[in-house]
Amino acid sequence: MSAWDGLAAQRAGVPVLAPGHVWLAGAGPGDPGLLTLDALAGLKQADVIVYDALVDPRVLELAAKHTRLEFAGKRGGKPSATQADISRRLVELARAGQRVLRLKGGDPFVFARGGEEAMALAAAGIPFRVIPGVTAALAALATAAIPATLRGINRAVIFAAGHAVEEDFDWAPLARAGQPIVLYMVMHNLERIAAALMQAGLDGETPAAIIASATTAKERILVSTLAKLSAAAREQKFEPPAIVVIGEIVNLRARLLGIDAGDQGREKERR
Ligand code: SAH
Repeated sequence: MSAWDGLAAQRAGVPVLAPGHVWLAGAGPGDPGLLTLDALAGLKQADVIVYDALVDPRVLELAAKHTRLEFAGKRGGKPSATQADISRRLVELARAGQRVLRLKGGDPFVFARGGEEAMALAAAGIPFRVIPGVTAALAALATAAIPATLRGINRAVIFAAGHAVEEDFDWAPLARAGQPIVLYMVMHNLERIAAALMQAGLDGETPAAIIASATTAKERILVSTLAKLSAAAREQKFEPPAIVVIGEIVNLRARLLGIDAGDQGREKERR
């Protein structure tokens, strides 16, 4: 008996993925241990799984033997499927009577265009459900021993996407909020966004960290300050996918791990 059989036998009311239905599920940041039981139920029941580039291969390995895997993300160089293509494909598969699991990295509704897919399914009259996932920001903070909130330190957390600085987005109110800022998709624009935040008054000495490939074998953590983060990332060749966190909460890492805040380079060698 597999772990899944054991769990399913113990769990009352495991949801049934019916033919012609779509589950829009979060695959979490990488580590299959962070999947929800409902996402796992989807992996075990789906006829077809339509997955994105950020879905970890270890998660796909949990699919049932008969399940067909369809890649829907960007493939290096080749033109990627458009959002409309993916939504159309989900509708087509469901109409053909398939049990469809649409699997997306992290949470399907956080910087993931899952909302658009859900709207397309709703418009087409396809029955669907949304299964949340552990979003990368929260997984990355947990893995780096940085509490997202701590009483007395912060009472809000700002999640923002940094992929399109050219868009008309004003970083100044975020800088002025005095609350930690957690950035997705920011690696290519880190220098410009850090500069915009400092221009808006955020101190360059504010602690900041990068957590790359959180919960995977490639996980790396860099602790620095807002002013120095971008240069340090370049120097140490940090690459996406990565989460950037800016704020006093970053200092809690040293306290939780029992290391000197000014001595995080040495801690890195221990990892
Ligand atoms: N829906 C996803 C986010 C997709 S946007 C979620 O809820 O997590 C893609 C961005 O997510 C990446 O550019 C990166 O900023 C972040 N990301 C995804 N997986 C990550 C991981 N394992 N480690 C660090 N960042 C990750």
